[in-house]
Amino acid sequence: MDVAVAGDTHGAYALGKLTAVVLDALAEGATVRGGPLPGGGPGAVAERLRAACAPVLPEHGTGAEEALRTVVRAVAEGAADPADPWCAAHLHCPPLAVAAAADLAAAALNPSMDSWDQAPAAAVLEQEVTAALAALVYPREASPDALITSGGTESNLVALLLARERARAAGAPAVRVVCGANAHHSVRRAAWMLDLPAPVTVECPGGRLGPAAVERALTELGPGAGPVLVVATAGTTDEGLIDPLPELARVAARHGAELHVDAAYGGPLLFSDRLAPLLDGLDSAVSVTFDLHKLGWQPVAAGVLAVSRTELLAPLALRADYLNADDDEEAGLPDLLGRSIRTTRRPDVLKVAATLRALGRTGLGALVEHCVATAREFAALVDAHPALRRHPGEPGISTVLFRPVAADSAPPAEGDALVAEVRRRLLAEGRAVVGRAVAEDAGGTRRLWLKATLLHPRATADDLAGLLGLTAEAAGAVAAAGAAGVAGASGAEAAARTPHVPEPEGP
Ligand SMILES: *Cc1c(COP(=O)(O)O)cnc(C)c1O
Repeated sequence: MDVAVAGDTHGAYALGKLTAVVLDALAEGATVRGGPLPGGGPGAVAERLRAACAPVLPEHGTGAEEALRTVVRAVAEGAADPADPWCAAHLHCPPLAVAAAADLAAAALNPSMDSWDQAPAAAVLEQEVTAALAALVYPREASPDALITSGGTESNLVALLLARERARAAGAPAVRVVCGANAHHSVRRAAWMLDLPAPVTVECPGGRLGPAAVERALTELGPGAGPVLVVATAGTTDEGLIDPLPELARVAARHGAELHVDAAYGGPLLFSDRLAPLLDGLDSAVSVTFDLHKLGWQPVAAGVLAVSRTELLAPLALRADYLNADDDEEAGLPDLLGRSIRTTRRPDVLKVAATLRALGRTGLGALVEHCVATAREFAALVDAHPALRRHPGEPGISTVLFRPVAADSAPPAEGDALVAEVRRRLLAEGRAVVGRAVAEDAGGTRRLWLKATLLHPRATADDLAGLLGLTAEAAGAVAAAGAAGVAGASGAEAAARTPHVPEPEGP
């Protein structure tokens, strides 16, 4: 039986052998898939996966090499691969190879970040990296701090938790959250989980949270409402828009409210000297959510919550005698437990540290600039396309909304149904992964749009041009068939595949 462990010097040999199997299986799976996602739709994908991997709990094992070949190959064959430029629906990035390689080391060493005796060096690395990221967000603060989280959802949850505890400590009524209709759903869910009053949701015509509307909401709440946390977004999930942070910070300050900024998407603009000014006002926030598994090219998970002063994290302090006994701490063992709401915790910081060191701030900044520039060029290609129409606003950070003009000639509900069907058709054919978003059209009507979220650090607008022809072609086919009741792809269409970005080094 194969029971080699991964760590230590011997582990490295076992791991090297198995890693070679994994890399072969990844390549084979990608070749069989031949595009950004598997063709055939959910039923066919499920059938192939089950056929390849059954039984998932065999009575007797098949051994490590066979298991890896089978499982990795099946998952790779059935993957939506963001390394393909035509996989551009979500804030779902292609991880950098350096980050994925570092993550292998994290898995092999398996430090757990909840006590010093499980992560002696990894804990120091986390401290150094979080300090650097906190200083990036809060360059003028004397003692900013940051936590590593599992992503924007956990960061927003902890931000609201800390706000709730500040209100409690002050003996004030429960904190009221004021956010835009454009805020990420995790903000409302966090309020629900924390048993806070439902957030006051401010309408966002044009996709951004308007300072005047927030001012009205704060005035309506009045001083008797107790503490208020205004939640703004820097990079909305649907449109990539940045709320006017300096104005929102001023309005909040005038009403004695605190500001939290959800910069899960936009935070990494700070790496670029040219783009960082788009986040002016960010450091007025008491806390900032910041993801590195979006514009940061980390394998999931890599979230950050930055706070302006390290004391703000005090409510997370916790004693568990087996992890951070008082006498251990007095003897000099650092206490890590209060740096997360989790206990056992992956060393996600390892891949982040390797990436920061490999690319440097300017290297990461250049990748962010590339994505922003590519979105502008892609928007221009949409504008030039006779069969497509772009959303009237400016493109967001690296998000472009568009729809087939064929959808405009139908009544609104049918037009939206056509847009949705075009997206599903491309998915079923395995040819492209584009997202969907509801956003206001000129004149204020809310319509359904196709969404391209461009996070590929090397794909160019040229690589994406074919995606537009494909979309227009799909729209033509859907319109011809009638928007309702069209399902699936024809085999001939599924045979046409997308380009892959050539790798800089040879195989
Ligand atoms: C992605 C996103 C989140 C959620 O982050 P996860 O990392 O998916 O948990 C929160 N807010 C915004 C603005 C996002 O784009």
